[in-house]
Amino acid sequence: MEGLEKITSLAKRRGFVYPGSEIYGGLSGFYDFGPLGVELKFNIKQAWWSEMVQMKDDIKGLSSAIIMNPKIWEASGHLSGFSDLLVECPKCHKRFKTEDLTKKGDSFVCPECDNTFQSKARQFNLMFKTFVGPAEDSVSAAYLRPETAGGIFVNFKNVLDTTRLKIPFGIAQIGKAFRNEINPKDFIFRTREFEQMELEYFVKPEEADRYFKEWVETRFDWYQTLGLKNIRKREQAKEERAHYSKATVDIEYQFPFGWQEIEGIANRSDFDLKAQMKFSGKDLNYFDEETKEKFVPYVIEPSAGVERIFFALLCEAYAEEQIAKNEKRIVLKLNPQLAPYKVAVFPLLANKPKLVELARSIYKNLKKDFAVAWDDRGNIGKRYFSQDEIGTVLAVTVDFQSLEDQTVTLRDRDTTKQIRTSTSELKEVIKKIINGEEFLKFGKLVK
Ligand code: ATP
Repeated sequence: MEGLEKITSLAKRRGFVYPGSEIYGGLSGFYDFGPLGVELKFNIKQAWWSEMVQMKDDIKGLSSAIIMNPKIWEASGHLSGFSDLLVECPKCHKRFKTEDLTKKGDSFVCPECDNTFQSKARQFNLMFKTFVGPAEDSVSAAYLRPETAGGIFVNFKNVLDTTRLKIPFGIAQIGKAFRNEINPKDFIFRTREFEQMELEYFVKPEEADRYFKEWVETRFDWYQTLGLKNIRKREQAKEERAHYSKATVDIEYQFPFGWQEIEGIANRSDFDLKAQMKFSGKDLNYFDEETKEKFVPYVIEPSAGVERIFFALLCEAYAEEQIAKNEKRIVLKLNPQLAPYKVAVFPLLANKPKLVELARSIYKNLKKDFAVAWDDRGNIGKRYFSQDEIGTVLAVTVDFQSLEDQTVTLRDRDTTKQIRTSTSELKEVIKKIINGEEFLKFGKLVK
């Protein structure tokens, strides 16, 4: 787990992730995202939205409320069935999910204090309860959504009525979800507040199996384009699956603590629309204009967690490299599209006003198109290393030659190679590198 510690410490030290409410000693299961973390999160969401909504004709977006009528969760089965089996160790009083404990005959073994004990497990509902309005009574009870999907099912008719979507079609949503996890752990892997990126793709029942398989492949490919290599697909056994699922395939990443789910693709059948229809009394059938048939569609759901992808990306990108005899660097080899900063701009020396002036104007100009960092402290080598550590893709250095011929050096994060390029072409060159059309290798641009 040494690797894990290095990543969490980098995340804190450089402003990706802070423990939540830190000055009060924290709050278990909650994290805050710092200046770089918020950029990386934003870029992950942007990449998902672009792929799943902007590039698609048959998928539209939605942003529904976090707190909704509690009937939704009664209908979906979350109120009665969204629970984990909980046991408490009588010695150290720590609480665990039974599935996280090892068993010795009829007894459990506590992973905290090694106590062997017998205990009856009890069902613990994972939804956070709150009250709407001033009275704290059962009529005003409500829940923070445990998944964003609920908001999509209850807006199924609204979206159909306000668009010209025809089956098969999808509704996508990115937003916060909350689960009162018994045992939050593994940094930002299992938290109590997190962001989901979910698609509900509605299909004819007889076509559900085909679309399910297609979505599993499409989603798996997406992770590969992000740069995640240590991934695999795993089909859930029947007893593992959520109550609404007919089939589920998890996409898993090999974290330092083992293979774990980052996205689940489920065939939720017509379970949700039928349930919401029953509880609301509203007709949520789909009417097929061509066949004049009325039916409840099946739904395929790819559901991903932003923080888990974020964490997987950090694990995959983190590298320590010996680049000279006495020189080591830490580098985050993030996909350029996801990197918090695309470029850093440096004047070679901070005490030469002409260099600073030119560097400043290049910086300002690049900022119109990219996320750009500025650094004029210490020596150039240190500045490069500092940017490598946060995954900045390129570094532009303005030196004395720049004042004479309007060229700058452009350094590549992954190879540390440099080329000279004219300031007039700089934007174009950077754009091509960020978009993956060209790479900086062996000191010159190659296609
Ligand atoms: P797990 O089995 O790990 O608890 P799950 O199967 O309950 O996860 P889903 O209900 O399928 O998770 O949720 C879809 C996605 O939401 C997950 O793949 C994950 O990326 C994210 N997610 C779920 N629970 C959490 C959590 N407690 N913290 C962070 N992300 C989560």
